[in-house]
This record gives sequence, structure tokens and C-alpha cells, in this order.
Amino acid sequence: MQNVYLNYATPVFIILIILEILVSRHRKFKAYRLNDAITSLGCGIFTVSVELFLKAGLLILYGYLFIHASFYQFAENSWVTWVVFFFVLDFVYYWAHRWSHEVNFLWGVHVPHHQSEEYNLTTALRQGALQDTVHWPIFMTLAIMGCPPLVFITHLTFSKFYQFWIHTRLINKVPLIEGILNTPSVHRVHHGINDEYIDKNHGGVLMIWDRMFGTYEEEKAEAVFGVRKPYHSWNSVWAHFEWFAYLWNAVKSASWKDKLLVWFKPTGWVPNQQADSFESFDVTQVKKYDTKISTALNAYCIFQFALVMIANSALLQVPLALEAQIALTLYIAFALITVGLILLRGKDYPRSWAIYHQLANLALVPLIWNSSMIGAIILMGISFLSIPIYLFAHKRSMKNHSDVNPMIQETA
Ligand SMILES: [Zn+2]
Repeated sequence: MQNVYLNYATPVFIILIILEILVSRHRKFKAYRLNDAITSLGCGIFTVSVELFLKAGLLILYGYLFIHASFYQFAENSWVTWVVFFFVLDFVYYWAHRWSHEVNFLWGVHVPHHQSEEYNLTTALRQGALQDTVHWPIFMTLAIMGCPPLVFITHLTFSKFYQFWIHTRLINKVPLIEGILNTPSVHRVHHGINDEYIDKNHGGVLMIWDRMFGTYEEEKAEAVFGVRKPYHSWNSVWAHFEWFAYLWNAVKSASWKDKLLVWFKPTGWVPNQQADSFESFDVTQVKKYDTKISTALNAYCIFQFALVMIANSALLQVPLALEAQIALTLYIAFALITVGLILLRGKDYPRSWAIYHQLANLALVPLIWNSSMIGAIILMGISFLSIPIYLFAHKRSMKNHSDVNPMIQETA
């Protein structure tokens, strides 16, 4: 169901991203960095790939509860149902989102959305792959209340699509709707790590819940974007596990009680430290994380990322057997990890790893063969072709020392 909506929305997303790039360039305003944008879009692609396996099961579970456990079944064809559950879903979304900021394990599935230190339309697509799955028990309350599955999934999808346009720095306050609906200005506050902006403006479409429950904050100072424990990587797969790995390391030598409790404690709590261990934080000292690599290796990353986008649309639109779907998802994950590491390390990324990546793709060919022989042959072709293209790009990087700087840079 969601994929149908996604198919219609994707061209609109792409057109608006291109428009944002053009307008920001025209205004001489640096809204985009290649490494950041690729990582954000990579998180989005990884999310829709992973959700392909999870969403169907979750919807079946929702439908089962709606039929067998609801107090009253609202009619799908009544406008009252659509209006009532628009408000109910937005209310439930507010709490799911608010708890995602307040509880350690929920923050772990939401954090990819906040890791970008830029704030543009690609940030909107930077979603956490496991977020909806982890939120599902909260959303099940709508099934119990009698919200038909179509109404639920349409409103949830609408809420996410609505939130696309608000991830931009190009639009200032919007007259008439400011304070009532979610807008670029109030959502910039939500993504801000300034003291006064932390854990504010959790609303999806409406801002009334934030006003009712004391989390509403207007944009005054310019927001500094990102997270207080910055993610110094362009790996859009690891982005999903980084916070869990951090907590896991923090409880390694802790008591069993802390090992169990840490996940349910307030965000930032780790044993032997106070909650919000990132509190002593000076926003004026924050510098955007950046790395510089050669033009040739950037071009290789764009090429591999374009292939990821093609693989993702094949995954969503071509009917494939389960093993072929798994193969394409692995293809996407391998490529996103490799691209992330090349963006990070440039010419210092081991050449052998780039070659192993392409050879690993060949292991996926038999899984695709039965569903699509042509697809399997294309996969073989691009994997073999990618090796000399990478070696050429790497060689150019070694020659042109002037445009290669593998050192990690902190730029303002
Ligand atoms: Zn959030």
C-alpha cells in the first residue's frame, strides 16, 4: 500500500530537491554537501528496502487486531472516520515521536533522522529503517479504537509526506499557519541542538499537541543542526546501529540491572553518568563535520549511488521472489556501506575492499537468476565494470594530490 503512494511521491521529491538546490545556489546559500546528501538519501533508501520486508507483516497484524480486538469498527467510507482519525493519528504520532526523543532505545531508531548537520529536503528522507516497526505497538491503539487499515496507513503516509516540505532553510515563517501546522520554522527548532530547542516541537502535521503539552518553541536564534553525539561517518547503514553500539559498549562492564535498564532510561543515560550526559554542551563551539575526497572518487560514489537508486526502484516495482528481494537489499546495503567509507576515507580506502565489494555482488547473482535472468546478467555486468572504473578513479586520486585531502576536516 505504502509503495503505491511512494511511487507517486518520489518524482515530486526529486523535483523539489533539484529546485531547492537551484534556488539555494541562486541565493548563494550552501544548503547541500554531496557526502551529507548521499548519506541522507542512503538512509531513506535503506529504510524503504528494509520496510518492504516488515511493513506487510505489520499491516496484517494491524488488520487482525482491527477485526478481532477493536471496540467498534468505524466505516471506511464515512468522512467522519477520516476526520476523527486524522486527529487521533496526529495525537498518537506526537507521543510516539516525543518518546523517541526521550527514551534511549527509541532514540536509537529515530536518531538517523537527526544526524545530518545540514537541514534540507534530503534530511526529510533520512529516515530510521526500524522506526515504524518499533512504533507499531503504539500505532496498534488505532486498530483497537476501530480505525480501518486503509484510513490508518493513508493518514500515516500523508503525515510523513506532509513533513517533507518543512525540511528546508529556504522558507521563513509562514503566515496564517505558523503555530497551528508544522512549518519549516518550527521544525528547524525540532532539529536544533541549541539548549532551548532540545526536545521541542514533536508534532507531525499539527502543532496543537506541543502547545497543549508544553513542548512548543518558536524559532528565535538560528538553529545549529545535528545531534549532541555527532555521527562522524557517511555510512548510512551503520547510522542505524551507532546509538545501540554506543549503549552496548557503555553497559559492557555494568551490572545486569543496568544492562537491562539502560534501554528504557532517558536518552543519553548510561551507567555511572547522569542522564543527559551530553548536557555540558556549547552550541557556539559546534563545527560541521566534513571530509574532502578527489573529484574522481566523488564521481565514482555518485555512479554507485545512481545504481543503488535503480536497484531500489527495481526492488519496489518489479515482482520478485523473496530471495531476489533479499539479494537486491543486500546489494543496496553493500553499496551504501562502500560509498559511505569512500566518502570518508578517499584514496586511503583500501583498493582491495572496493574490489571485494564488487565480487560480493557476484554472490547475489544466483539469487536473482530465477526471478529475472536479465536482472542477474545486468548485476554481473555492472559489478565487473565497476572494478576498472574504481581503479581508474583511485589512480586519478593518487596522481592529483592537489585535489585530494583524505584528512578529516572540521569546517565551520
Ligand atoms: Zn525527531
